[in-house]
Amino acid sequence: MPEGDTVYRTARNLDEVLAGAVLTKSDFRVPKFATLDLAGNTVEGVVSRGKHLLMRVGEYSIHSHLKMEGSWHRYRHGTAWRRPAYTARAVLETADWVAVGFDLGMLEVVARDDEDSVVGYLGPDLLGTDWDPALALTNLQRDPAREIGLALLDQRNLAGLGNVYRNELCFLRGVLPTRRVGDVADLPRMVELAHRLLDANKDRVERTTTGNLRGSTDWVHGREGRPCLRCGTLIQRGELGDTELQLRDTYWCPRCQT
Ligand SMILES: [Zn+2]
Repeated sequence: MPEGDTVYRTARNLDEVLAGAVLTKSDFRVPKFATLDLAGNTVEGVVSRGKHLLMRVGEYSIHSHLKMEGSWHRYRHGTAWRRPAYTARAVLETADWVAVGFDLGMLEVVARDDEDSVVGYLGPDLLGTDWDPALALTNLQRDPAREIGLALLDQRNLAGLGNVYRNELCFLRGVLPTRRVGDVADLPRMVELAHRLLDANKDRVERTTTGNLRGSTDWVHGREGRPCLRCGTLIQRGELGDTELQLRDTYWCPRCQT
């Protein structure tokens, strides 16, 4: 599951090879944009906003979201794709490169000056140059009765956290994911830690919240039934979501987290 750090890295990898280049071909394999042809337009750049990706091309902005399985790759012409062609949703070519978006959870093309209609609702971007911890805190505190595990995932509060980070953050701050926002001690430190974790991981391919790249890279996420790395108590798993359709796995140590 791609989180903000993955999307940030994706944007940078694409920006490296596409920025300033003219598209020689565009192929959107979704019905709504199947006839749209952006060939001849110059790519201004590729940026991330939380877990969203914006590719700015001429007067347009290609907005995509990786959701669960999505990814963007860049290839030299004539090299084999690492994922099946039938999963490609967008193919963008320049003289030197081919960018392919596979299994994108969302793909749409909007006018550049209409970007706000697709990402304007997002809270402060944890990896943005305009990261605003005070605003993120205010947003979180708006609903003190909400479970912290849900509030952290709500991209309107702060943008970039996914399931792995919310579970790890709750562990690192010693709070259960079900604890109410209003009952979380030192919420500013949690916001600061969220930023620090994403920032520390944004330049490396393998994510770690424990600081280890060998051995366990996570404290609790995905470790149900295994001993807590701090106290040895067995890690538990549950589900948390605003609705039944949005349930996501939570993991916690019943001793380290209260
Ligand atoms: Zn523990």
